[in-house]
Amino acid sequence: MDAMDYGHSATPRALATEAVHAGREDLASLGLHAPPIDLSTTYPSYDARAEAARIDEFATTGARLDGPPVYARLDNPTVARFEEALARLEGAEAAVAFASGMAALTAVLLARASQGLRHVVAVRPLYGCSDHLLDAGLLGTEVTWTDPAGVAEAIRPDTGLVMVESPANPTLAEADIRALAHSCGSVPLLVDNTFATPVLQRPVEQGARIVLHSATKYLGGHGDVMGGVVACDEEFARTLRQVRFATGGVLHPLAGYLLLRGLSTLPVRVRAASGTAAELVRRLATDPRIARVHYPKIGGAMIAFEVYGDPHDVIAGVRLITPAVSLGSVDTLIQHPASISHRIVAEGDRRSSGVSDRLLRMSVGLEDVEDLWRDLTWALSAPPAAPLRAAAPAGSHGAAAGRPVAVPRPAGL
Ligand SMILES: *Cc1c(COP(=O)(O)O)cnc(C)c1O
Repeated sequence: MDAMDYGHSATPRALATEAVHAGREDLASLGLHAPPIDLSTTYPSYDARAEAARIDEFATTGARLDGPPVYARLDNPTVARFEEALARLEGAEAAVAFASGMAALTAVLLARASQGLRHVVAVRPLYGCSDHLLDAGLLGTEVTWTDPAGVAEAIRPDTGLVMVESPANPTLAEADIRALAHSCGSVPLLVDNTFATPVLQRPVEQGARIVLHSATKYLGGHGDVMGGVVACDEEFARTLRQVRFATGGVLHPLAGYLLLRGLSTLPVRVRAASGTAAELVRRLATDPRIARVHYPKIGGAMIAFEVYGDPHDVIAGVRLITPAVSLGSVDTLIQHPASISHRIVAEGDRRSSGVSDRLLRMSVGLEDVEDLWRDLTWALSAPPAAPLRAAAPAGSHGAAAGRPVAVPRPAGL
């Protein structure tokens, strides 16, 4: 069997293999090894009649055009490689990429609303901004919040979507996706799979019809690219492409390139960071300073824990770990959801969905576990209000630029 035949083989390839080959099968025949980046915003054609026919076809079907895209808001060959690869990893027919996770969710909601289905049933907690987008009805949708057991009952004739995150941001609560998909009947279930990634969970195999990612997180994986993507069947992908064309939330081709590159190391990154996270969870679980540890059964590199002390002191006390929102990067990040990622959610809704004021969320990266533990255990014992920034003496460049001032640590901690 030669290399070209292999791509069309019926034999399913392992995830690790797809991660480095999907979306790249034609490269050798193009005489290339790295995927080309196509930055064109427009594509010349001397045949306006043919272009008109192609535009008509896209407008009526939303199918990807054969040949050049006409205009970059329709499609982009570099982004299409990322879409193809992500669809393959999720076991979905298609994927459509957007400028961010929120742009992706916006497109899904608009696509359903355009079909007259403006009601959404959603399970809390969700990422703070997803919660806000639904709760504020910014796109003219209406939401019913429920727990997984109440989904079937909450569905109405105008329900266009059931939405869940599993594991959820930030509590890492898990839903039984298969049971939930069953409760949805004919209404599509959207699973935000940002935290698990297809390495740990493939919601389509469990009955979800729509899988959403903030590609900004694990798919990109290095904290330097923003994007979103929806994996789904080709029929819904067509509607999403039409919405993307009309509303313009496109992914930039450079971001598409970086996301495709990120996918190639996704399995190794997620597995390595998950191993470290599991070890940190084991240590935190018996630590007297920790009231409660949250870690999903499926594993992963996200952990959350509630402290007896002041969570702000922990944030102020880390030095190796970066105190910052977001997640899924090669380095470890920690943040306080009640102050940052879920700040926009009303306090009562936040608390009732399990987001305690003492909860900290940590995205475990690829550092050595002992170095991380040393930093974390130091931060957990940090004296109240550890001085992060010194007052700037006149002319002191470092402090004026807001550089943290190192706090001396006891040896061996
Ligand atoms: C970050 C995040 C989003 C939003 O994605 P952006 O790329 O920041 O727009 C959506 N869902 C989850 C679970 C997230 O963590």
